[in-house]
Amino acid sequence: MTDTIFSKIISREIPANIIYEDDLCLAFTDINPQAPTHILVIPKKPIPKIEEASEVDQNLLGHLLLIVKQVAREAGLNNGYRVVINNGEDGGQTVDHLHLHILGGRYLSWPPG
Ligand code: AMP
Repeated sequence: MTDTIFSKIISREIPANIIYEDDLCLAFTDINPQAPTHILVIPKKPIPKIEEASEVDQNLLGHLLLIVKQVAREAGLNNGYRVVINNGEDGGQTVDHLHLHILGGRYLSWPPG
């Protein structure tokens, strides 16, 4: 698959404000924050979108959610937060590397736009 901005962040070809890393994933702040706290959690495995994840990714996907929880807690989002996965064109996905948005630090209305 082709390189994306996020694979270049994983390989350190482009800089990011990385706040968490382990063997399976990386978390960094969003360059265009939509809330006072806006963090992205991405797998190191280049899954283009959640639609393309499969059974073999089951443990990885669970790990990503647990890291979301850990990162959110460490970011001080004690009053709640939202976790978003945009998928495909209608989902508003702009980077073809699976990523989980953590948004918090303000009240987030529902439904989203
Ligand atoms: P999505 O629209 O769900 O594909 O989200 C992609 C997100 O990546 C957007 O919120 C962008 O602001 C963010 N983004 C794009 N380039 C970078 C970058 N170099 N560093 C951090 N975040 C980025």
